[in-house]
Amino acid sequence: MEVKTIGILTSGGDAPGMNAAIRAVTRSAIFAGMKVFGIYRGYQGLIEDQIEEFKTQNVSNIISRGGTILKTARSADFKTPEGRKLAYENMQKHGIDALVVIGGDGSITGASILAREYDVPIVGLPGTIDNDLAGTDMTIGYDTAMNTIMECVDKIRDTATSHARLFFIEVMGRDAGFLALNGAIATGCEDVIIPEETTQYDQLKALIANGFRKSKSSSMVLVTESKDPQGGALGLAERMKKEFPEYDVRCSILGHLQRGGSPTAADRILASRTGYAAVEALREGQRNVMIGIHNDHIVNVPFHKAIKKDKPIDPELLTVLRVLSI
Ligand code: ADP
Repeated sequence: MEVKTIGILTSGGDAPGMNAAIRAVTRSAIFAGMKVFGIYRGYQGLIEDQIEEFKTQNVSNIISRGGTILKTARSADFKTPEGRKLAYENMQKHGIDALVVIGGDGSITGASILAREYDVPIVGLPGTIDNDLAGTDMTIGYDTAMNTIMECVDKIRDTATSHARLFFIEVMGRDAGFLALNGAIATGCEDVIIPEETTQYDQLKALIANGFRKSKSSSMVLVTESKDPQGGALGLAERMKKEFPEYDVRCSILGHLQRGGSPTAADRILASRTGYAAVEALREGQRNVMIGIHNDHIVNVPFHKAIKKDKPIDPELLTVLRVLSI
């Protein structure tokens, strides 16, 4: 079936570059003669019929803006069959015959369920700062967030050095250490504590056993956020204070800073290329794929592969970090 009308939504955590992706999808679809609907507030807006037709002007001057003009939401209703039924009915009401979903792991999971239940063509775009979708080298927003982390950590280093302190700096990433690991390399941190390795506490103990680098007056360690109250920068700093009072420990949680800001050139280009490719994929009759990038080539990754949670970190990056921080 030829796709004539598409709906676009952004869902889950926002990421810089989502607007560039919305622009790319909208313009590519209109160029190809399709009708486009913007769906506000993710799946929740689809359920509540917050849907508006988009013309090329709706996406003017947004390529440089962080966040998402379509807003985003987490929708508990969409996790229920009743919610997804309402979502599908609203698609039918507007004549939307395919969706482009821009979001992270959860959003792509939701897309694959809707696609299966109602047999609708859906193409996903990887929109998350965490870089935790498999099959793509990069996700939209990751490069911007890493650059933000770099700027922040550089500033913290100024004070860490002046006071000879040990700093734990917490970054986002959910269950993935990409932001922490590459952020640490980019800022010359001493080490990282990431989910791909052993428990956070074991990594802390290993760090202490290695004695930090004696030649240095200050140390900075990037830590991936953790649901465990004993983990994350705060949890680890508390443990350090109790168990190793000889260290002058401080912690800093970068938090939502990392989500905002104007997207970098790399993110704008990635969003533009994958957004265009999403429309091309729908035109070719593809469905249930996430558009990714691998070795600078566009790739179509089946949903089930994208969300498999098996995107490993490259162990060589850890070696690089540790060798360079002697
Ligand atoms: P992200 O896309 O950034 O990973 P979430 O994990 O919060 O963010 O997922 C975004 C939304 O995707 C959820 O609020 C929900 O509406 C939908 N979603 C996630 N998991 C499922 C699921 N198993 N079934 C249906 N919908 C889901």
